[in-house]
Amino acid sequence: ESLNAAVADAAALNAFIVTTPDHALAAADAVDAARASGETLGAMAGVPIGMKDLFATNGVQTTAASHILEGFTPRYESTVSQKLWDAGAGMLGKLNLDQFAMGSSNETSYFGNVASPWRKDGSNQPMSPGGSSGGSSSAVAARIAPAATGTDTGGSIRQPAAFTGICGIKPTYGRCSRWGVVAFASSLDQAGPMARSVEDCAIMLGAMAGFDPKDSTSLQMDVPDWEGALSADLRGKRVGIPREYRMEGTDQAILDSWEQGKAWLKDAGAEIVDVSLPHTKYALPAYYIIAPAEASSNLARYDGVRYGLRDLPEPGSGAGASGSGLQDMYAATRAAGFGDEVKRRILIGTYVLSAGFYDAYYTQAQKVRALVARDFERAFEQCDVILAPTTPTASFPLGSMNADPLTMYLNDVFAVPASLAGLPAMSVPATINADGLPLGLQLVGRPFDEQGVLNAGLAIQ
Ligand code: GLN
Repeated sequence: ESLNAAVADAAALNAFIVTTPDHALAAADAVDAARASGETLGAMAGVPIGMKDLFATNGVQTTAASHILEGFTPRYESTVSQKLWDAGAGMLGKLNLDQFAMGSSNETSYFGNVASPWRKDGSNQPMSPGGSSGGSSSAVAARIAPAATGTDTGGSIRQPAAFTGICGIKPTYGRCSRWGVVAFASSLDQAGPMARSVEDCAIMLGAMAGFDPKDSTSLQMDVPDWEGALSADLRGKRVGIPREYRMEGTDQAILDSWEQGKAWLKDAGAEIVDVSLPHTKYALPAYYIIAPAEASSNLARYDGVRYGLRDLPEPGSGAGASGSGLQDMYAATRAAGFGDEVKRRILIGTYVLSAGFYDAYYTQAQKVRALVARDFERAFEQCDVILAPTTPTASFPLGSMNADPLTMYLNDVFAVPASLAGLPAMSVPATINADGLPLGLQLVGRPFDEQGVLNAGLAIQ
């Protein structure tokens, strides 16, 4: 009975688009077989994980939570998911997300909102699990899956982790192959693990990362033994506190948890130093030009011919004379197949890339991106890792932000700078606010220094 209740509760969260229990059971059987024959077990042996439905999975529908990819069943496996299976993991199912990973609340999915298992004290109102990896955060926070994959373009691992009281790390850009991951903004997209502890993230990231010749931006670097080198002893380390992150509109409870985080890192032996990231306030507007620009190009491939949905206009209703030409098919397919937020991004993206506006928006945003990256380089001359809030607020009720996409975009303000600079960044649970909701703290490291990020995270968790 309690199992049935648990399954019903899980279903109410709407974290999964499809479930694949046989996949997870096969991984468990493989562990038994490996044990019986004395083989050594992989780092993820038998672990039943959730897979964000942005990773192509061979023989299992892959939708990016969109209508346009509904019914699309890849005949190939993404590199990251393949690595996880090679390490012994099994898949519980494909996790819901914001459509094409565009969103911060998991309300843009074609397959419906995802709810967080958390509620405000004394309230039954469903809360956002964050986005875009909201199915991942919800499933892990609800203990449905011990770990899940996420992707982070401008915060989509860290913000949902913060909203649901779990850990999530976006590694250095290039650590995890993008091959077989539905592309949103290719110069920013990075996969990473979401799990209940820093240790679990270290193990899972070790299984996900590694050079892949099929991704031209994949890093040709060895994967260190992050788990083996975990240490919460931060003596000799300097932790930078970026003064520009003290922004108006940030909850007092978040500022308090930031102070608490400093104290914990100091207790672990670190020296706390003040650093400056002067271009912080330009990072978010630059992100919301660069990401849609790349998205508008990446999403051009969904044309009704190559994948999933094909829609034909009503006879006589199309723009063409007969309403049945190729252009009409494209238009009808894309009109029906993309959600409002995806269309908004495509429109913004094509606008900022258009001949008359390219220099004013896109070129300018790329300059800002370079300045943001240089800010971090300078800051890392004075510190080894940066501590900041993950988000300016705790989770909000589902439906409460619908009217105002710009307010929603603001939620990414602390997450986006590390994305633009390609740096490793992690959110770890810090505390519970007065409403009973979790708050996260963010650690940002030098390029390739996932270890420094994980170790500081360990000292906080
Ligand atoms: N919330 C941000 C956006 O909507 C980030 C999304 C992401 O990281 N995939 O673009």
